[in-house]
Formats: sequence, C-alpha cells, structure tokens
Amino acid sequence: MNILVTGGTGYIGSHTCIALIDAGYSVVVADNLSNSKRETIENIKYITGQDIPFYEIDVTDKQAVECIFRKHKLNGVIHFAGLKAVGESIKKPSTYYENNIISTLVLAKACLKFGINQFVFSSSATVYGENEVPFVETMDLLPTTNPYGETKSICERILKDIAQANPSFSVSLLRYFNPVGAHESGLIGEIPNGPPNNLMPYITQVAIGKQGKLKIFGNDYPTIDGTGIRDYVHVMDLAEGHVAALTSKREGVQIYNLGTGQGTSVLQLVRAFEESTGIKISYEMVDCRPGDIAACYADVQKARRELGWVAKRDLKTMCRDAWRFERNYDQVLK
Ligand code: NAD
Ligand code: UDP
Repeated sequence: MNILVTGGTGYIGSHTCIALIDAGYSVVVADNLSNSKRETIENIKYITGQDIPFYEIDVTDKQAVECIFRKHKLNGVIHFAGLKAVGESIKKPSTYYENNIISTLVLAKACLKFGINQFVFSSSATVYGENEVPFVETMDLLPTTNPYGETKSICERILKDIAQANPSFSVSLLRYFNPVGAHESGLIGEIPNGPPNNLMPYITQVAIGKQGKLKIFGNDYPTIDGTGIRDYVHVMDLAEGHVAALTSKREGVQIYNLGTGQGTSVLQLVRAFEESTGIKISYEMVDCRPGDIAACYADVQKARRELGWVAKRDLKTMCRDAWRFERNYDQVLK
C-alpha cells in the first residue's frame, strides 16, 4: 500500500511517515518546505532504512500534484500540508484560506480523477470552538476565533460534501488535540520558525536557554490552578492514529478525536517537564492570550471503539522526548 503524505517533512507528517513504514506501508512525500527542512527526509530514511520519493512542490499546484498521481500507484492520501500559526492567520487571512483550502480541493479532486478512495485530513480540536469539555465528535461545532480554525471547519465541510456526492470516496477527519514530543531517536521533532507559539517547544527552549522566562498566559481561568487546560498527546501516538484510520478502511466520512482524554494545566505540564528532566523552568504569569479558551480535551471513546487506537505514551515520556530532540537539534542537527 502506497500513501501520498503531503506535508511529510513537517512535524506530524514526518512522524507519521515513520509509523506508516513501521506498519508496512510505502510513502511518497510532497512538501514545499515552507515550514520544514529537506534534511528531515534524510532523517526519516535513516530511521526507517527505506528510500522515500520526495517532491518539493506546492500542493495547491494542480499540475504538480497530478504529476505525482500519474507517476506513482497510490492507495491513499494523508493531507498534512497546511499553514498552522493562529496569530499569523489573523494577519494574513487570504494566504491561509488560499493555501489550506485550495490544497485540500486540489488533492481531493486528484483522488477522484485517479480513483484513489482513501483520504485522511488533519483537522483540529479548534473546530469545536468554546464547547463544553470533553469534546465529542457528535457535538455541534461552534465558531472558531481565527482564520486558521475556519480553514479547518471549511475543509471538513468540503470533504464531507465531496464524499457524499462520491460514495466510493472515504474520508477520515482526524481532530488533533495538542501534539507534543518527538520520535525517540531524537532525530526528528518540532522545529518552530522563530520564537515558539506553542507551550511545549517554548518550555524546551527555556530549558536550553534560547528563551528567558516562560510567560504563562492567564492564571484565573476556572480550572484546577487557574491556568489553561489542554490534552497533550505524544506525536508518535498521533502518528499511529493515522495508521489506524487507514487500516480500518471504513467507508464514508469518519470523524475521530485524537487525544489522550486527559486535561493537563500549564502548571502541571511545567511540573511534569521539571520532574522528567530535572531542569527548573522559570516562569511569570501574564495576561490571557486573546482567543484562548480555558479548557480543551477529548472524549476518546470513538477512536478506541472503532479504530482500536488509544494514546499509550504518558506526559513524562512526552516531556523526555521533546527535551531529547531540543538538545539534539541544538547540538547536532542544526
Ligand atoms: P508543520 O508546519 O510542521 O507541517 C506542515 C508542512 O506542510 C510543512 O512541512 C510545510 O512546509 C508544508 N506545507 C504547507 N503548505 C504547503 C503547500 N501548499 N504545499 C506543500 N507543502 C506545504 O505542521 P504540523 O504541526 O506538522 O501540522 C500538520 C497538519 O496538522 C497541519 O494541517 C496543521 O494545521 C494540523 N494540525 C496541527 C496541530 C499542531 O498543534 N501541530 C494541531 C491540529 C492540527
Ligand atoms: N501557553 C502559555 N504560554 C506560552 C504558550 C502557551 O501559557 O508561551 C498556554 C496557552 O495559553 C494554553 C496552553 O499553554 O493554555 C497551550 O497552548 P498552545 O499554544 O501550545 O496550544 P493551543 O492553545 O493552540 O491549544
């Protein structure tokens, strides 16, 4: 089985390539390297011992995409390629709508044209908006607070409509919670472009001395300690969730939350990192970040029931692996 992985040199895509190859799939990678590095493909090859066809293309480019579909006999597509920075999406909405929506349309149409019936899409817990936790797949979605989130809701809708009109086209909409950590080799991981927006890479950069204090955004949320609650999930567990979605071969549109089902506050994550690495993280409390919600965690029963998938790696493993990659990246890979 041969899978086209768009965004395959990115954070989640690179880990998913490894999980796919471990499960016996072959992969073809397409990425424009706008937020990733060419070396990542070499590291995936090194870890897996497999050769991987790599195309440096923009997946909004119909001709370039169709060229890959013509050249390789594909059995499915996992579409990770997308822009993902919430703050940037507010400043550059048209860039986000164009990149994330056109790429999805181009790929879905190529699947229909070439008779490829399995499509897996990277959605996000952000589509739930400020709903009641835990978030369940059957909930009505609430408006998101930024263009990035809207691109995810719109792409979900587009793919549902296409699947409804084409009954042989199966779509898995995977709603990720907060992916963190890195492959245990320490060779691939998250490489933020500039100062990190997300909590875990910010913590690892404080630990290594690239950032000063961690700024904790808000300490009067109605949560256990006043700081925001999220559902952190190890990126390799998330990667294995994609394999489970592909191998389940369910028909029609399937929506799954991929998280642990556990809510963790910012302070709890800081403590877990300190316990797991022995490094103290200095922090200060600052105002809430506009658009943030108090709590976001998954109901994970559907993925467990239908895909037999559960996240296995705990918070300490997530912290240990994130830290191993940060150190390795700083000292060896950079
Ligand atoms: P990432 O930025 O590390 O990876 C995305 C990859 O897509 C990058 O390598 C980038 O170069 C590539 N890309 C972007 N636009 C492209 C285009 N038009 N053509 C070709 N390549 C293109 O991001 P990630 O964290 O691995 O996220 C993967 C997907 O998961 C994204 O769609 C993202 O929105 C979604 N997601 C991520 C998170 C998260 O917290 N990381 C949470 C929910 C959903
Ligand atoms: N957060 C923080 N300081 C940071 C980055 C994030 O306090 O430098 C908090 C943020 O307010 C949220 C949690 O950490 O409560 C997770 O934030 P992240 O950006 O990683 O994920 P998202 O908010 O997109 O779920």
